[in-house]
Amino acid sequence: MYVCHTIAEIREYVRQAGERGLVIGLVPTMGYLHEGHLELMRRAKDQCGVVVVSIFVNPLQFGPREDYAEYPRDLERDVRLAGGAGADVIFNPAAEEMYPEGYCTYVDLGDLTDKLCGRSRPGHFRGVATVVAKLFNIVRPDYAYFGQKDAQQVLVIRQMAADLDMDLEIVTVPTVREPDGLAMSSRNVYLSPAERQAATVLFHSLEMAGREVAAGERDAAKLHRMVMEMIKSEPLAEIDYVEIYGYPGLAPVAVLDGAALLAVAVKFGRTRLIDNTLLEV
Ligand code: AMP
Repeated sequence: MYVCHTIAEIREYVRQAGERGLVIGLVPTMGYLHEGHLELMRRAKDQCGVVVVSIFVNPLQFGPREDYAEYPRDLERDVRLAGGAGADVIFNPAAEEMYPEGYCTYVDLGDLTDKLCGRSRPGHFRGVATVVAKLFNIVRPDYAYFGQKDAQQVLVIRQMAADLDMDLEIVTVPTVREPDGLAMSSRNVYLSPAERQAATVLFHSLEMAGREVAAGERDAAKLHRMVMEMIKSEPLAEIDYVEIYGYPGLAPVAVLDGAALLAVAVKFGRTRLIDNTLLEV
């Protein structure tokens, strides 16, 4: 596996692949890979001649009191796992390579980022959109792959790509879960055994809401209350938000009459986890 640490190296690699007529796929990640990431890579391998995986813990998307310094990192393991899932090359730049001294250009989105994780984590999506725009410019992929687990992130990236006329296709991959339903996340390693057990309440609450909608419930406030109550019944859970919005526009919704996004963010000890489901009527 070829691991590039500089923008010049990865540019040269994809230039040569392009010359050979290969379709380029990009899977942006922050590393510490799990099955969710690997599923993105497998999807990319199905569609693309060359799969570029970026591994970059992007300082710009972490708030000052967040876990940038502790975020788990293991490049050697990641390289091995990515290779097994079909990655052809890893792009693993240092922070200074991406944001050299004097760096001062950022991508800001409007209404899409003033709710959900955008409200809980000010500046987060500015950091995400900026680094993804840079990665798109560096790799110039034909396809880029993102997980539905970060539902708002996918909407932000799609909006940015459309607004800035980025010439690529964004592919969304369904959330990969542990056997007990917990959405896979690099942050799951922070959980104590008791917190890990408690965290299954997220998936159970999403499933319960899905069942209620399937049984005919359309009242968003009522669904919201039921999900809140179920999560609150778990003593180790501290709710950041439970929200229901129209999907994909994220407009407020009182009565479900189309697709809606039910998204939750909940802390277990010091670990903040997110999950979501689409409620289809
Ligand atoms: P991260 O390394 O957490 O920034 O995630 C990199 C990419 O993997 C993002 O597009 C995430 O949405 C996606 N991803 C993370 N966890 C999962 C999961 N459990 N299932 C599917 N995709 C995921």
